[in-house]
Amino acid sequence: MEEELKTLAQRISVCKDCPLSRNRTHAVPGDGSSSARIMFIGEAPGFYEDQQGRPFVGPAGKFLDELLSSAGMSRGEVFITNMVKCRPPENRDPMPGEVEACRQYLDKQIQILKPRVIVALGRHSLAKFFPQESISKLRGKPRQWNDTIIYPMFHPAAALHNQGLRHYLEEDIKGLPLLLKEAPLGEKEQPQPQQLPMF
Ligand code: SF4
Repeated sequence: MEEELKTLAQRISVCKDCPLSRNRTHAVPGDGSSSARIMFIGEAPGFYEDQQGRPFVGPAGKFLDELLSSAGMSRGEVFITNMVKCRPPENRDPMPGEVEACRQYLDKQIQILKPRVIVALGRHSLAKFFPQESISKLRGKPRQWNDTIIYPMFHPAAALHNQGLRHYLEEDIKGLPLLLKEAPLGEKEQPQPQQLPMF
């Protein structure tokens, strides 16, 4: 699993499938635990992420770390990535064509990790799973999607621009540990059948 994620990250680092490859310093495949049961999906890398090749390392990342810590979690036990893996110029929204070009990588990450819960951070991420829904309406409300639970939350960067959103994030993250506990076991967590001894 870890090897598969690494191979995928290498492909992403040299990908030129959309115009976002032209201005990037580094592609940002995502990082975290290969056995993570929770996956966070944001929108796109920003300035700091582009510089370092890692997701959520700027001010929004610091806030995400605080949120994780308040729920008794750390980055080491989750996997964090974005809808698109290269920074859009001036941090503009990713274009539909860019999201579509990059979808192959996100889909593959989900397929490899098989997370029990996906936290959709912000409206772009939510639109992947429920295109007709609004993040304001769905935030904090878990919803089934295939074999995974989608848990929408505002994007941490939105709360940096609008302090009024901060308490929604602080409130919603608290629901995550219980949600994880109650979510049905994923395929990779199913107990393996015991092999009976021959004699
Ligand atoms: S955003 Fe995705 S599809 Fe576009 S160049 Fe980067 S890795 Fe490739």
